Amino acid sequence: MPLVCEIVSVGTELLLGSIANTDARDISQGLAEAGIHCYYHTTVGDNPGRLREALRIARERADIIITTGGLGPTCDDLTKQTVCEAFGVPLELHAGTWERILGYFERIGRPVTENNRRQAMLPAGCAVLENDWGTAPGCGFHAGDTWVFMLPGPPKECRPMFQKCLMPLLKSLSGTTIVSRSVRVFGMGESAVEDRLRPLMERSLNPTLAPYAKEGEGMLRVTASARTAEEARRMTEPVVAEVLELLGDVVYGVDVDSLEGVVLELLEREGAGLAAAESCTGGMVAARLTGVPGASKRFAGGVVAYARAVKVNVLGVPDTLIDRHGMVSEEVALGMARGCCRVTGAELGLGLTGLAGPGGDGSGVPVGTVCIALFDARDGSQRTLRRSFGDERDRVRTMASLTALDMVRRKLTRGEGRISV
Ligand code: ATP
Ligand code: MG
Repeated sequence: MPLVCEIVSVGTELLLGSIANTDARDISQGLAEAGIHCYYHTTVGDNPGRLREALRIARERADIIITTGGLGPTCDDLTKQTVCEAFGVPLELHAGTWERILGYFERIGRPVTENNRRQAMLPAGCAVLENDWGTAPGCGFHAGDTWVFMLPGPPKECRPMFQKCLMPLLKSLSGTTIVSRSVRVFGMGESAVEDRLRPLMERSLNPTLAPYAKEGEGMLRVTASARTAEEARRMTEPVVAEVLELLGDVVYGVDVDSLEGVVLELLEREGAGLAAAESCTGGMVAARLTGVPGASKRFAGGVVAYARAVKVNVLGVPDTLIDRHGMVSEEVALGMARGCCRVTGAELGLGLTGLAGPGGDGSGVPVGTVCIALFDARDGSQRTLRRSFGDERDRVRTMASLTALDMVRRKLTRGEGRISV
């Protein structure tokens, strides 16, 4: 039977929506990796009565309870006292921790106050989880058949302590390790992907195969559990390979961060630079690319060519071309792509022009229409496409940006399309 853990997050700020519960997210990711199931995240304010109640419930349905927050020195920090009361464990001064706190205050030259002493009060007989990132230590104990761990709230302390002190212990408690691989898809709808993979999904129990929708794209997770990470990874391989076989060139990467990251790697491999002239996306392509560290090596820059005057005066798109074909046309997109290659000196240029809506522009072009061009200044080759992405402004812009990046990816994989891992 797999172990079950419940995360009890303590903090009124969480309930008020002042901060997002990133501690629970970080811990849950670790639990999944350790093969420990997590069925509930409970969030409770800085209130001893309600925390006691949350602990009572968690204790009934989980083998492991991890609390976050409320370990500090102030009077609203009541996690330790409440947890200890709930589990009938006394608090006592932990000499080593008290010395560390005294040393810390001596180093920073500030006086120690009585409430700092509270931080050195720990459950009797507990394991102390050293906090190298702040003053409040974490701790853990075993009571009845429940493991209880308490971690401080600030993510800068919680995350490394969880990774360093708890993960090894959790992995050894669970005896299994989970490895997840992600297969990233662009250009095939969620239902079409599912349809194609349904038999494989039904057949796959370990590893499991599950679809996740991301904004504008698709992702499949292949998750295996085994005694060691190597074994689990080996088990994922045939399923990943089968997914690649079934989906073909709509897969843009396995275990990659993003489509833009893949594009930049391909540009690096090719030794080519990219530039983008963007109208309806207003720089979203550039923003995605520059979000990747090291993008400057391969992304030359971009022009936000929103107004006609910018398309004409900066990018050199002829007025007559715009009059003849209209602002949202493959011809104008191509003119923009050529123009930005000329302006930046990049080998490859993207041009995007479209109507993101919600209102039309009186030209008769339907809202959601986007024209994208990719120009290669090295040999003058070009590709253009016209798509319709619906009438929701954000979605039109996101899909246009991703489609443009995918055009570059497809060009650079030269129809090999399929990736191999
Ligand atoms: P401190 O010694 O800083 O008081 P603490 O363990 O007592 O630490 P809290 O007082 O509950 O923790 O929270 C301190 C800060 O940590 C909060 O103001 C918030 O910024 C952050 N924090 C607390 N809980 C979480 C959480 N679950 N997710 C993300 N951030 C959190
Ligand atoms: Mg606090």
